[in-house]
Amino acid sequence: MFSDKDIAHFSKLETPFYYYDLNLLEQTLNACYAAAKSHQFHVHYAMKANFNDMVLNKIKAVGFGADCVSGGEVDKALAVGFAKEQVVFAGVGKSDKEIIDALENDIFCFNVESLQELEVINELAAARQKIAKVAIRINPNVDAHTHANITTGLDENKFGINSWDMPACAALLKSSANLEFIGIHFHIGSQITNLDVYKNLCNRVNEFAAWFEDHGFTVKVLNVGGGLGIDYHNPNQQIPDFTAYFKIFADFLEVKPYQEVHFELGRALVGQCASLITKVLYVKNGKKKNFIVLDAGMTELMRPALYQAYHLIENISRLAAQASTKYDVVGPICESTDCFGKEVPLPESFRNDLIAIRSAGAYGEVMASHYNLREQVRSYSGEEA
Ligand SMILES: *Cc1c(COP(=O)(O)O)cnc(C)c1O
Repeated sequence: MFSDKDIAHFSKLETPFYYYDLNLLEQTLNACYAAAKSHQFHVHYAMKANFNDMVLNKIKAVGFGADCVSGGEVDKALAVGFAKEQVVFAGVGKSDKEIIDALENDIFCFNVESLQELEVINELAAARQKIAKVAIRINPNVDAHTHANITTGLDENKFGINSWDMPACAALLKSSANLEFIGIHFHIGSQITNLDVYKNLCNRVNEFAAWFEDHGFTVKVLNVGGGLGIDYHNPNQQIPDFTAYFKIFADFLEVKPYQEVHFELGRALVGQCASLITKVLYVKNGKKKNFIVLDAGMTELMRPALYQAYHLIENISRLAAQASTKYDVVGPICESTDCFGKEVPLPESFRNDLIAIRSAGAYGEVMASHYNLREQVRSYSGEEA
């Protein structure tokens, strides 16, 4: 929800830009932290969702760790001051250089996604007389019931080690002198809104934890990943129900006294705290379609083009007016998928109206590109307003 003061301020800034509501971010982080703490759960923030400095500083201040999926993210996490004991490194394709840098930085743990990767980490650690802490990312074959492009925990997905490879994985762990097994890791997908999915995940985690313990391993860390969704249709109903989310794990995971439960939330923490603010360049009324052409496109926010994602679109120059017209809201980029919404009900709109594309805090600014030689997208926070 924007105040008149916000909107007056926006009209003085050059569009397009991301606007961050840092108060809302802080409230969301505090709600998550308190809900996790009541169960002694640990949260690592999945940095790929948003690595804007303003956002990272707030997240670090709350006390979350960092879940990274590239060497660049590991470096960034350390540079902004996350403790190295709170940095984990996941990803299906870690390069030798990325592994070496992470070893030299003594990060907390590698979440390992293939048998070959285990061998490589062991070799690279041995060459440096290091012991690499590893958690095994297991593909549990649990359907996340989310969009196919953001499902990661099914047999056909590239992520994690499949259940039939567990005996080979255990043998490799036992024969690798420079690996220290600390636990098991899962991440089954993103924008999960059906919490029952997590009950299925808990059952699988319990089975795999028991399997490893039966084979002589101590499973210290149960890392259940992230994926909690947000309500894109109600951006003003902004804080996800972290209490209900964590309660599922408290109820269904079998946690031993020496075990820690780790989470890797991204979208749920940052999704609602930003909007992309853009301006109407042109209005084209055709026979079949009315188009609004914005000065922002898929180069600033790629989710609609990438996976037909829905974002609520508001004409914030005419908040009091009735939605009377349906527009296809498109960007300036030379791609037909450069469209933020089709048949979007809006008040009659005019050149220079300000448009807010809501719930753009996660996988928004971080996916911005220079395609068409577009300028780097800017960002502001309410604290500067
Ligand atoms: C992307 C990712 C996450 C975070 O997912 P969200 O849906 O943003 O919560 C967590 N863990 C891993 C390994 C990831 O790749």
